[in-house]
Amino acid sequence: MSEAKQKVVVIGGGITGLTAAYYLQKEARTKQLPIECHLIEASHRLGGKIQTAYQDGFIIERGPDSFLARKLSASRLVHEVGLDDQLVHNATGTSYVLVKRKLYPIPGGAVMGIPTQILPFVTTGLFSPLGKLRAAADFILPPTKTEGDISLGQFFRRRLGDEVVDHLIEPLLSGIYAGDIDQLSLMATFPQFFHLEQKHGSLVLGMKRSTPKKTGKEKKEKGIFQTLKTGLESLVEAIEQKLERGTVRKGVRVERIEKSGNRYELLLSSGEKMEADSVILAVPHMALPSLFPQCSFFASFQTMPSTSVATVALAFPKEAIVKDINGTGFVVSRDSDYTITACTWTHKKWPHTTPEGKVLLRCYVGRAGDEAIVEQTDEEIVKVVMDDLNKIMNITQKPEFFVVTRWKQSMPQYIVGHRERMERVKEQMNEQLPGVFLAGSSYEGLGLPDCIDQGEEAVKKVLQYLNE
Ligand code: FAD
Repeated sequence: MSEAKQKVVVIGGGITGLTAAYYLQKEARTKQLPIECHLIEASHRLGGKIQTAYQDGFIIERGPDSFLARKLSASRLVHEVGLDDQLVHNATGTSYVLVKRKLYPIPGGAVMGIPTQILPFVTTGLFSPLGKLRAAADFILPPTKTEGDISLGQFFRRRLGDEVVDHLIEPLLSGIYAGDIDQLSLMATFPQFFHLEQKHGSLVLGMKRSTPKKTGKEKKEKGIFQTLKTGLESLVEAIEQKLERGTVRKGVRVERIEKSGNRYELLLSSGEKMEADSVILAVPHMALPSLFPQCSFFASFQTMPSTSVATVALAFPKEAIVKDINGTGFVVSRDSDYTITACTWTHKKWPHTTPEGKVLLRCYVGRAGDEAIVEQTDEEIVKVVMDDLNKIMNITQKPEFFVVTRWKQSMPQYIVGHRERMERVKEQMNEQLPGVFLAGSSYEGLGLPDCIDQGEEAVKKVLQYLNE
């Protein structure tokens, strides 16, 4: 008679849940562990925020378009599912920041807007002489004194002044978090900047000393991002194919989870019940309070904001763009009179996405405090985006087609105190919900590699728990 298997249920089939299910099934298979792992996804498709549209020869990412290459968990997963030959780096080129209707190249050596080379900062027109002088105060100001968390804005404004923050750091960070720099937590997003400042006394010197110097040969290096030539959704499909038959349920929502002795009972939207020995919650934080109405500690997630954004992809024939700009895209400063927050010249940054003779622009709208645009109709959004683009680009034709994708409450905001909140929740979970683990973009990093890391980490925790 075969040994009774322990059952693990992963809830949520975005990249985090897919990663967790994939690696857990692999571990159980290769080490012949008596564990079965199931994945439950509320919608009728897997992938969560990863969604690719394929139209007229274009490859259009509706959500994420790439991941940071230096965080290796993503390329490792790609390798696991046999897609290495589809990996591609972005084409490098000038990126800009748009401030009050003018595009400025991002000064050379800027890492997240922090200077690591002095000359490009001294010579850029992006900051006034006074703004540059204020930024130089970083060399003499004492390190930040703080007992706990502070906002990114508070930290950077003190060190480098408002102008460098508003014209460069904020627009760049906004591109990642769609957040408000004066609300976002320093410790939950970029604690390394704080540690460098504490160690070197100056943020700029700290960054300079810790950024590896490039040799002449390395200067022609590949781009820092990677994606899949076949679209990111092909990663989702490849993982799905590797999951064991009969272990994935789509179109079924987990509505509630109750503890029942040492196990958990999951109530599904289909009316069925499912038992589990361990559960990985790879769902956004907003889902938790209703999954566990009996656990008041999850209520703290009710006040954690999530921003709504929309991506707007526009396809044109090449000749429609009269004023072509040499570069890969731009981000927009908040004090500019624009609704779009960023635009990627996708055909230049990712040439594989666009047929010969065509142009693909991908813009973002929506950010913390500025989300009403996401509620408008596709046509209204496209009109606003085209008006904005025409302030700098001179586009003579309507797009051949467009793809608008709304992502409501999709960008979790790690506001000041996020790490402490997470610690408190995890402590309570340890006590009251042993064997239940959180993973995903709401918790410990929202980039794709961070989500994959969390999926992998959750597997380790489950195995340790089941082995105790
Ligand atoms: P999700 O993808 O949100 O998946 C969660 C899943 O859980 C969903 O499928 C949902 O249907 C399911 N679910 C929820 N509740 C239940 C329930 N009760 N029962 C069953 N299932 C449930 N990151 C990058 O690294 N690079 C980028 O270029 C990038 N660009 C982005 C652009 C946009 C527009 C957005 C929105 C995000 C971007 N990100 C990017 C961030 C990254 O895409 C996300 O952080 C990541 O995909 C989140 O994955 P996840 O699995 O944690 O969550």
